[in-house]
Amino acid sequence: MGYLSWFEEHASAHKKIVDKLLSQGKTKEKIIEYFDFDNMVKNEKDFCPLYAENRKCHDMDELNCYLCACPNFRFKDDGIQQIKDKTQYSFCSIDSKDGRQGVYGEKIHQDCSKCTVPHHRSYVEKNFDLEWKKIMKKCIL
Ligand code: SF4
Repeated sequence: MGYLSWFEEHASAHKKIVDKLLSQGKTKEKIIEYFDFDNMVKNEKDFCPLYAENRKCHDMDELNCYLCACPNFRFKDDGIQQIKDKTQYSFCSIDSKDGRQGVYGEKIHQDCSKCTVPHHRSYVEKNFDLEWKKIMKKCIL
């Protein structure tokens, strides 16, 4: 699956949950709370493939899933640029010290496996919008 198809599918899944919570009268605080991993893994099993294994994408005590993937991620399925003989497909717009550019054969992809930036509740609160796509609008190049 390319980045864009994942992005669109995830946006729909996210919207479905937010719409359900809004129809229940949940406030911003309660919506953010709902997206805590410990709750999501129990109540939204299809939202993330890792939930089936009760596994977190990052080793954190409190991991919030509202801003998966990350508003700082930038991608282009056709490639962003050539770097020598390799094609870069994604990068981090804030050049997080915990992220890195992973080289996979002739492809370069942003590797966020060691970065927890978007999963902190405080970050979600600061960047919150009911529309996930609005928060992520700069991700697609
Ligand atoms: S490295 Fe961190 S801040 Fe950068 S895109 Fe990845 S998760 Fe986001």
